[in-house]
Parts: sequence; structure tokens; C-alpha cells
Amino acid sequence: MLDLAFSPPAPKVIAGARDDWELVIGMEVHAQVASRAKLFSGASTEFGAEPNSNVSFIDAAMPGMLPVLNEFCIEQAVRTGLGLKAAINLRSAFDRKNYFYPDLPQGYQISQLYHPLVGEGEVLVEMGPGVARRVRIERIHVEQDAGKSIHDMDPNMSFVDLNRTGVALMEIVSRPDIRGPEEAAAYVVKLRQILRYLGTCDGNMQNGNLRADVNVSVCRPGQYEKYQESQDFSHLGTRCEIKNMNSMRFIQQAIEYEARRQIAILEDGGAVVQETRLYDPDKGETRSMRSKEEAHDYRYFPCPDLLPLEIEQDWVDSIRDSLPELPDERKARYIREFGVTDYDASVLTAEVENAAFFEEVAKGRDGKQAANWVINELFGRLNKEGLAIADSPVSAAQLGGVLDLIARGEISGKIAKDLFEILWTGGGDPAQIVEARGMKQVTDTGAIEAAVDEIIAANPAQVEKAQSNPKLAGWFVGQVMKATGGKANPKAVNEIVNAKLGL
Ligand code: ADP
Ligand code: MG
Repeated sequence: MLDLAFSPPAPKVIAGARDDWELVIGMEVHAQVASRAKLFSGASTEFGAEPNSNVSFIDAAMPGMLPVLNEFCIEQAVRTGLGLKAAINLRSAFDRKNYFYPDLPQGYQISQLYHPLVGEGEVLVEMGPGVARRVRIERIHVEQDAGKSIHDMDPNMSFVDLNRTGVALMEIVSRPDIRGPEEAAAYVVKLRQILRYLGTCDGNMQNGNLRADVNVSVCRPGQYEKYQESQDFSHLGTRCEIKNMNSMRFIQQAIEYEARRQIAILEDGGAVVQETRLYDPDKGETRSMRSKEEAHDYRYFPCPDLLPLEIEQDWVDSIRDSLPELPDERKARYIREFGVTDYDASVLTAEVENAAFFEEVAKGRDGKQAANWVINELFGRLNKEGLAIADSPVSAAQLGGVLDLIARGEISGKIAKDLFEILWTGGGDPAQIVEARGMKQVTDTGAIEAAVDEIIAANPAQVEKAQSNPKLAGWFVGQVMKATGGKANPKAVNEIVNAKLGL
């Protein structure tokens, strides 16, 4: 398991800086709850539907409409909390966060400020074999998503699509325990992985199902340790928040830029101004969106349309009992059960669908060999062709069939690759293909002996050479393999050639 004694040190030297500086990062990740219906209405959450087709009267904020809480969304958030080893608050409450924006018909977002559903938890972010950073989760609250304004369809008009309005989000707030750009990306990767294992968020970042606000500050070495001891934020630098990031690459670039910007200000004797910034990937820069002074006064107050949310411990326990095996445990099990390396176990467990595929192949077979084939042949090929595992032309059953043929000595590793190619392009039953195409390995020593005899008889000069220099026996092995179309069992050929040449 992960040994947290080997927590990676924070990088101190930041390129271009005069002094040593450390980065401090905390993230607010918005994860769309995997649910067919919205948080307070029965409207569909389907992605890519005709604009404004998934909008109920509640989502459109028609007068007199009242929100009705979707229990399944709450169950998903509880499941998420349990997956992040977090405390579940049996009593939570919804608040109104008031602001005006065209994509928010209600004029307020229903969120949870004062009493969130989920309390403190943690995520272990692996930064190398056995080296992990523990990132504490402060809270998870449930809230509504807003709609989408569209400004680039017409030169004179803006449009609004309310399909996303009212979709349930989980806002997962971390403590400022992330210490560098790579860790920040690795944190989002890990969070996404856990949510996908739990089935509580699709994690599709392109569709905006998972997006992060990244809070960045810099401080001098030693300050973070003081913060850790006291939990007093005044030991840390002033932070800026970079909004709405939905790419791991841009998260890293934005943090690097932002750190350099803040350090330059501080080394110049200036002060960092707390503000919200946006990252421009074309320019590779963050720019100010609004300062703290311009920050909205959201006039939060308890939502009068919704009773406080009270849930039963029994219900929480039953959700806990039904949790699936999570990435850390699954990875440890693969190392233990299948004898695969730490790295291979990471690759196999990265995506929950990939792990399921591997287990189907490995079941009752040599786990290490299954891992090699799944990673090198299958994942390699899928990557090359830009395919997801769900679109793999070769099924787990077919790949398992190939491994069985190897295990029974019916085909060599080399022929198995040819067979894989045939399955990839045409499909079929591996054993039947081998039978029908005569791809079976020749292990019949009589047939191999006959082939060896023939080649020895036809090449007396080569025989003489090989007998004075045994290294040249390889030539005969090659000739036999050629004569048998690569189907002869190489081990048997070797032995027979050596015996016949008297080596
Ligand atoms: P707000 O609600 O105004 O965004 P929070 O106190 O909830 O403020 O903090 C938001 C995020 O900012 C959290 O993830 C927290 O860990 C992070 N954060 C707070 N202080 C700092 C800091 N000095 N440097 C980096 N991140 C910080
Ligand atoms: Mg914030």
C-alpha cells in the first residue's frame, strides 16, 4: 500500500525567481452528478440534446414552481463522500446564493454554504511508486448548475441554452495541500478516477462534467509547515483563483504562469491582490476577471422552499456496504493477486472499464501474461487508433482464447500476434481460426526431425561450419522455422538441431 512516510517534498526552486519559493494550491472541483434527472426537477440531463429541450417549469423558474429534491442525487453525493473517506453529515441544508446572470433564470443558485452534506475526507495522490501526497478534502456540497450563454452564434444576439440549468453538481473543496503543478493535475486525475469507479460522475472533462477552480498562492520555505501546525491561513500567501479549468494540461500551465506572476510581484516589493482570474490557453497567461472588491455579495440565506435535509445513518451504512472496490485497493490487489508490477497495476486500474476488461482476461489464467497482452497489444493498439475500450474490436473473451492457445502450446507467441491481428481486423473464434488456417504450432517431433534432416542433407558445407562453430547452429533453426511457416515449436527445433549436429 501507499506509504505516506514518503510524501514528496514541495519543489522550492521556481524558474526565473531570485529566491526560493513554494507553491500552495487548493482546488474546488465541480463534478456533475451522474443522474438521469436534475437536482430539483424531473427534466433529463442528457448531454447534447436540442437546446432548451430539457427544461422543466422549475428549471425555467416559472412563478410558483417549487423544487423537489431528487433523492438519487443525494445518494450519489453520499456515495462520493464515502469513497473519499469523508464524514457524512446527517443534517445538511440548502441555501440561496443570489446573483443575476442570463443563464440563471431563478436569479439565485441553490447551494449548500452553511451546512454541507459531506465533511472532511481525503484523497491520496500518488506521485511515484510508494510516494503519495495526502490531500485533505474540506467539504462537498450539492448545488445546481447554471445554463449556458452562447455569444458566438450571431454578431448581434446572445442566446441561452437552459438544458444544463438545475443539473446536480458536487463541489468538492480541497484544503490547500497541493504543492505543485504536476500534483494539481494528478489530484484531478485521481479524483476523476475515484468518481468514475464509484459511478457518481462521468468525468468527461470535454463536456464540462468535471471542472476545477484552482487557488494558487506562493510562500517562502517554512511557511507552509507553520500553516500545517496551526491551520492558520495567515502564514500563507494571498491566493488567486483561476476559474473553470477543464484540461489537465491547462491546469499545469496556468499554475506555472500564475506562480511566476505572483513571485515577480513579490520580488519587486509588491503585494499579490486576491482576485479571480481566467486562463487564456492561446496566450499561456492568466488575466484578471474580477478583484475581491468587485466580488459579488451573494446575500446567502437558507432556501425557504426546502426543508433541511435529514438522512438516516442506516441509509448511509447501506450505501457504504454497497461501495465498489476503489482504485487504491484494486491496484494493491492486482500486485498481490496477479504479481504485476506497480506501474502495470497503475495502468490497468487507471480507467474502471480497462480494469474490468483485464480481470475478465486474467480470470483463471496467468495474470502477468494477461497484463502484458492487455497493456502492450490491446491498450497499445487502442491508443494508436484512438479507440476506447468499449470500441475494442477484440473482446476480453477472444483475448482470453488467444492466451489459452499459448498456454496449451498450440501457438507460439509470434503466431499469437498474427492471430491477434486477424481478430482485430475480422473477428471470430481464436481456436477455430487457428484450426481453419493451419496456424497450430508443430510440436510433433517427428515432423520437425524430418525437416531438420532435409536441411542438413542439403547443406553439407553449413554443417561443417556449425560443427566447428556451434554459434552457427542458429542458421539451421532459422531454416527449419522458415520451412514450417514459423509454426514449429522453437524449443523443440533447437534441441533437435543440436542433437543432429552432435553439438
Ligand atoms: P472561497 O469560498 O472564497 O473560494 P474558501 O475558503 O472556501 O474560499 O477556499 C477556497 C479554496 O481555496 C480551497 O480549496 C482552499 O483550500 C483554497 N485556499 C485557501 N487559502 C489558500 C491559499 N493561501 N493558497 C492556496 N489555496 C488556498
Ligand atoms: Mg472559491
